[in-house]
Amino acid sequence: MNVWKEVMEESRPGPVLKIQSARCMDCGTPFCHQENSGCPPGNKIPEFNELVYQNRWREALDRLLETNNFPEFTGRVCPAPCEGSCVLGIIENPVSIKRIECSIIDKAFEEGWMVPRPPLKRTGKKIAIIGSGPAGLATADQLNRTGHSVTVYERADRIGGLMMYGVPNMKTDKVNIVQRRVNIMADEGVKFVVNADVGVDPSYSLDRLLEDNDAIVLAVGATKPRDLAVPGRQLSGVHFAMELLHANTKSLLDSNLRDGHYISAKGKKVVVIGGGDTGTDCIGTSIRHGCSSIVNLELLPRPPQTRAPGNSWPQWPRIFRVDYGHQEAAAKFGKDPRSYEVLTKRFVGDENGAVKGIEMIRVYWEKDASGKFQFKEVEGSEEIIEADLVLLAMGFLGPESTVAEKLGVEQDNRSNFKAEFGRFATNVEGVFAAGDCRRGQSLVVWAVSEGRQAAAQVDKYLTAVDGTKR
Ligand SMILES: Cc1cc2nc3c(=O)[nH]c(=O)nc-3n(C[C@H](O)[C@H](O)[C@H](O)COP(=O)(O)OP(=O)(O)OC[C@H]3O[C@@H](n4cnc5c(N)ncnc54)[C@H](O)[C@@H]3O)c2cc1C
Ligand code: SF4
Repeated sequence: MNVWKEVMEESRPGPVLKIQSARCMDCGTPFCHQENSGCPPGNKIPEFNELVYQNRWREALDRLLETNNFPEFTGRVCPAPCEGSCVLGIIENPVSIKRIECSIIDKAFEEGWMVPRPPLKRTGKKIAIIGSGPAGLATADQLNRTGHSVTVYERADRIGGLMMYGVPNMKTDKVNIVQRRVNIMADEGVKFVVNADVGVDPSYSLDRLLEDNDAIVLAVGATKPRDLAVPGRQLSGVHFAMELLHANTKSLLDSNLRDGHYISAKGKKVVVIGGGDTGTDCIGTSIRHGCSSIVNLELLPRPPQTRAPGNSWPQWPRIFRVDYGHQEAAAKFGKDPRSYEVLTKRFVGDENGAVKGIEMIRVYWEKDASGKFQFKEVEGSEEIIEADLVLLAMGFLGPESTVAEKLGVEQDNRSNFKAEFGRFATNVEGVFAAGDCRRGQSLVVWAVSEGRQAAAQVDKYLTAVDGTKR
């Protein structure tokens, strides 16, 4: 069996989806499709639910594609804030909106409805997009549809950003889902240039891109990982999560892991530091390699089972969740791998400079005089646990600065590229920013939403520069 195949249950049209679409109450005020409470790009959820219920799948697709360029991505990886704000969710389980979304687009591909539709006319305007994650791809898709000529530059050897080299294959198939979409866009006329490290590789200098294009969109993601500066950080066997995940997917796609160009967790005692999607993906990947044990350390307290006071509907429910990696770890090792309220004090090495353990201490959280939560160490709770592979999954600190510095783009105090939400224009004429590099580490659905909105602003800018209306 191919252990790397998608774990998501198939979302085929059938009685389950019929029931789910029927559960939608067509609320007068549907919180699910509003940017702030629910779906960032504003998917018209009650409308496509009704069309699915009536078996009018083709129309449901048209409705879905009005607001979301890549429902096959979000239908797989979105945490579904729409479901968190579903009105039915106040009293029972919300409608399975994400599953309905995914089945609409999966059926559309199966039926052959998703074919390339190049624009009928070209405007003659050229746009360079730097970065090919969901933000760059959504921007490119929108601008190409308008008739502009778009080139996407990507420093990796494959297109897709974190949809290609972050999110692992078992969450979104790289060939059948990500590359399939890239191929459609290429057939529609979007140009893709890989292995193009813009601003670093002299063949892709920013001066040249500025000269050759009418606008530039920065969609370079938030790629600076948060480090853990404790003694022993330099030991071999301590890696950033992305070192594991990127190399694993590349090797999987290049050679089905035969080339050995990846960090293997086989037979190792793995400790993942940090939770979130990245931590879960490290757990899922390590289990597939055949690790001998897995522990996931988290500094924060375990979230509550149900909404806490102050986290009321329709906000995103900050509750304890069990993702695929946790389920797999529990099935293999008999318990959930997560351990909460622990702080790593140091990495312990052996005589060869390799990590062999982690010294940690229990902590508890309490409010300080200003009302801010701070953690305190629990005296005498120090412990050393064994580890021969440590993966740091503690989030990202913002975009790398090279491109911004070379262009003179201002950055905010969190180092994100400064471009007001809604306008997406930076301080440099004709240069825009969207996605994680602008808003900080976020979600695929926000990247798609920002890409769409930034594209509209770029189009407006180009029209204004021209003084013409199309
Ligand atoms: C392991 C992991 C798992 C995740 N899982 C989920 C999930 O399940 N659900 C979810 O919603 N979100 C998830 N996320 C977050 C999500 O992937 C991101 O929010 C989203 O991809 C951001 O899109 P983006 O287009 O802004 O940037 P990215 O996807 O990061 O793409 C940026 C691209 O720009 C390229 N680039 C950078 N600099 C240059 C340069 N100078 N020249 C050329 N190219 C450049 C990078 O190589 C990269 O490919 C996950 C993130 C990680 C790390
Ligand atoms: S994109 Fe996300 S928030 Fe929007 S409908 Fe789909 S699952 Fe819900």
